[in-house]
Amino acid sequence: MKQTSLGIIRHSMAHVLALAVKNLYPKAKFGIGPTIENGFYYDIDIGKTLSLEDLPKIEAEMKNIIKQGLPFKKKGVSLKEAKDIFKKLGQSYKIELLKDLEKYGTTDQNEILKMKNDKDKNEDIKAPKTVSIYQVGEFVDLCRGPHIKNTNELPLSFKLSKVSGAYWRGKETNAMLQRITGIAFAKEKELKEYLYLLEEAEKRDHRKLGKELDLFSFHDEGVGFPFFHDKGMILRNILEDYWKKEHRENGYTEVKTPMLLNKALWVKSGHWDHYKEYMYFTKIDEEDYAIKPMNCPGGILIYQNSLHSYRDLPLKVAELGLVHRHELSGVLAGLFRVRCFTQDDAHIYMMPEQIKDEIKKVIDLTDRIYKKFGFSYHVELSTKPENAMGSDEIWENATNGLKEALKEKKIDYIVNEGDGAFYGPKIDFHLKDCLGRSWQCGTIQLDFIMPEKFDLFYIDKNGNKKRPVMLHRTILGSIERFMGILIENYAGAFPLWLAPVQVVVAPIKDENIDYANKVIQSLQAKGLRAELLAGDETLSKRIRQAEMQKIPYILVVGDKEEEKKNIAVRRRKEGDIGSMTITKFYDIILKEI
Ligand SMILES: [Zn+2]
Ligand SMILES: [Zn+2]
Repeated sequence: MKQTSLGIIRHSMAHVLALAVKNLYPKAKFGIGPTIENGFYYDIDIGKTLSLEDLPKIEAEMKNIIKQGLPFKKKGVSLKEAKDIFKKLGQSYKIELLKDLEKYGTTDQNEILKMKNDKDKNEDIKAPKTVSIYQVGEFVDLCRGPHIKNTNELPLSFKLSKVSGAYWRGKETNAMLQRITGIAFAKEKELKEYLYLLEEAEKRDHRKLGKELDLFSFHDEGVGFPFFHDKGMILRNILEDYWKKEHRENGYTEVKTPMLLNKALWVKSGHWDHYKEYMYFTKIDEEDYAIKPMNCPGGILIYQNSLHSYRDLPLKVAELGLVHRHELSGVLAGLFRVRCFTQDDAHIYMMPEQIKDEIKKVIDLTDRIYKKFGFSYHVELSTKPENAMGSDEIWENATNGLKEALKEKKIDYIVNEGDGAFYGPKIDFHLKDCLGRSWQCGTIQLDFIMPEKFDLFYIDKNGNKKRPVMLHRTILGSIERFMGILIENYAGAFPLWLAPVQVVVAPIKDENIDYANKVIQSLQAKGLRAELLAGDETLSKRIRQAEMQKIPYILVVGDKEEEKKNIAVRRRKEGDIGSMTITKFYDIILKEI
């Protein structure tokens, strides 16, 4: 088979889907059938609601059509002829599309809406003289193409994945059509891989696992604002403690700035003019205040609070800062997109000649932290955009600083020309999870504008005031989102050091509870997170519960263990690993952590 572009395959596949539906439901009326990421869909009026059980039948018919080797026949016709053809076929939706084409020169709903709002521009609309019509089997479609020449060129590596209701042209007052969605790849192996990823991603969905593992919840009383439960807080605190320790050891100090700050600050920082739609406001003593959407302006006030000498630089100030941003409710997605989140922020104030070395240190720290979680990553560099502020010279120095740091660290990177912020170039870190999905988390961003706006300075060797360069950076991005990524990456089975509960102790009978509690106490005394797993249920049921909670270790204690001062150890995914003393068990655990 010759190489055909995946786009053409998926597009042609939509026609085959339509023909299959027409063969099975002769009265079907067809809406539109575009390609989408990984596949295609067709909106069809079948006169009834389809369910998932109807899809295998349609899929089988599609395979028949592909094997039959039907040609795609193209015909150019006038608009009037086209209308006659579809009238004869009883295809009212297609006639509607033709009418739009006649009136607006397009069938694109967004373009039509724009034209309706902007009536002056309607004069130069030209309806096409001819339109192309494609026929495959008994199915005739209005379409621009291109397609494959014959259905036998199509691979069988496709699958109908979904059926849902869809209003004609997305309008609630219109008829409800059936949207049949399919996925298609050039090779069976690719389809299988994609289906596997889809299934895994669904199993690992952090919203589902967050509920099952009792980590966090969302409530109507605060749409987009996550509630962290006991176990979620344990996980969160472990993350934050680890983060703080790494930063302390790498020369950062830590600050906390207030949530609410006066309007004047946000006007000065430029947020009032450029970021207002994402901010929340309130009044205090008749004055306007905003909830911080970013930590920088508050941090700058601390910098300005004392005089800095060149000897103090670089000054590295970290803040786990809770920021609020007004995201539209439609884009909220579990912990991945929330309305308040904690940035693992830090600002570095330095002299221009320190840029390269400092960037290298941030890269090292980022690398160290990602490796701790087992993530690999790639780096992207964004350079000077058109609307940039600051001189060419300053941009060139900064961009070279970033490039040289990456080069000296021997890190390959992608360049996004002109994609930097208007206030400075940046490096982004995209980490890769175990399903191969990419997440932009860390960022290193140079800023020449804030120091100007706030007139920041340090005193140089000769006693003169000099402007420092400011650098914004995050490594995890947002604690909340990073937790979501971790949950999905580990499918909720956290490594021992992150597991909210590391060990549960299950007494075989009630008589063994005292001994179980003694075991727990000695584990807790060693700093382990251990809990009792008692209750009316049978031992095997309790063990099953702990396994569902993905607890790394389950210790079973009965009369035999009590007598020998032993524990029977079960490890997650492995099962029974034998009886041993608590000291021996603790050695094993310590090694793992
Ligand atoms: Zn087509
Ligand atoms: Zn910042």
